[in-house]
Amino acid sequence: DIPELIDSCIRGKLKEAYRDTVVSTVAQKGALLLEDYHPGRILEKVLLAKPEEILKDIEDAGLRGRGGAGFPTGFKWRLAMEEKGDLKYVVCNADEGEPGTFKDRFLLHKHFSRVIEGMCVAAYVIGASKGYIYLRGEYSYLKERMEETISQWKKDGLLGEDILGKKGFSFDVEVRMGAGAYICGEETALIESLEGNRGEPRNKPPFPVDTGFLGDPTIVNNVETFLWASLICEKGVEFFQQYGTSKSKGSKFFSVSGDCRREGIYELPFGITIDKIVELSEGVDIKAVQVGGAAGECIPKRDFHRTIAFEAVPTGGSIILFNKDRDLLDVAENFMEFFVEESCGQCTPCREGTIKILEGVRLLKEGRCSMSHLEKLMELSETIELASKCGLGQLSVKAFKSIVENFKEEVLGRLPEEG
Ligand code: NAD
Ligand code: SF4
Repeated sequence: DIPELIDSCIRGKLKEAYRDTVVSTVAQKGALLLEDYHPGRILEKVLLAKPEEILKDIEDAGLRGRGGAGFPTGFKWRLAMEEKGDLKYVVCNADEGEPGTFKDRFLLHKHFSRVIEGMCVAAYVIGASKGYIYLRGEYSYLKERMEETISQWKKDGLLGEDILGKKGFSFDVEVRMGAGAYICGEETALIESLEGNRGEPRNKPPFPVDTGFLGDPTIVNNVETFLWASLICEKGVEFFQQYGTSKSKGSKFFSVSGDCRREGIYELPFGITIDKIVELSEGVDIKAVQVGGAAGECIPKRDFHRTIAFEAVPTGGSIILFNKDRDLLDVAENFMEFFVEESCGQCTPCREGTIKILEGVRLLKEGRCSMSHLEKLMELSETIELASKCGLGQLSVKAFKSIVENFKEEVLGRLPEEG
């Protein structure tokens, strides 16, 4: 498959081509293993109901945003639905940029129609007439195929004016390209970029549900969230709720990579332990698992009983395994380099603070960081968390802090001998 080959060549590792394999461990009943999907059929059913009835299903299902934050999807849609005004927008956040996350790439590649269908459902509920898919710059090879699918939907009367003959329901979708900035995955920076401005986060509130694209009510949801919304409409609330925890319903797609034999996309239920993921992916001599990418927590082996859920260890889908030979300070350095590069530079704690933490990690690696300097770095981390304007800055030190706190022996062993 050409796109997969290009993708694996970009990454420089051919073995990664098989990463786009779904390994469903949800009792062999994973959502994407269902084979009876026909584009538009869900929409036919949805348009027979009132928007309020569809919204109630999404709320009752307990669907929470799959990008990472876990905000209740139904509540977000309700807020946008209740806003007045003729112009409302549905935005699909396909700017998947979290290191170690590649599940949306797979969904866009193999299950794009379900994503469009979820966007149509959202548009019907909130009363939007225009949708945008903001696609990560590095995924540009997917654009042509996505646009072909959108054209087919238009030809079939599933997008455009009076969809499926439903008077007054018109909705159109357009793909817009990102240009490689991680910050544009932050929803307000994404909206700025869509408007043609420099992609910098806005202050929140106001939230996009009332003041979004061009100042109009806008919902921004992750690719996977739209997919689940369409599945809930197709299969019902009970189907969705058969897995998960009381606060994190359903199953989720994970991108699993690192020191394991079975890297790939997994559909797993919320509430699964980290131990189980290590076992399923055939991790070898794993001493740490990074949950949530560069913006997540580095979990030590003694805590592998912890569970993945919004109320426990949350993640947008990134799981990276590290074996016993990995130097976790290399990991911290790599992530801090990433944030120094990706900070938009708008606010001081993030712009300057991430540089100071990176310098500190390098001192630690070289055995030149004193205990008091390490304590200052931890204090600075707290300031960065508290004072940064957006999620990028607030989460930029999470991996560093968790490596210092959870792997004390390994880190303190790198301090210079006293005297
Ligand atoms: P957030 O908690 O600020 O917001 C989450 C969503 O809820 C947003 O859509 C926001 O508009 C909405 N919301 C929150 N409070 C609201 C309110 N009172 N009224 C109306 N809407 C409200 O989180 P965020 O900064 O958007 O996202 C942070 C998450 O993104 C993190 O968990 C991080 O891990 C994840 N992330 C994911 C990727 C990826 O590639 N998938 C990349 C970077 C970060
Ligand atoms: Fe920009 Fe960082 Fe401030 Fe976010 S926290 S606005 S990325 S400088």
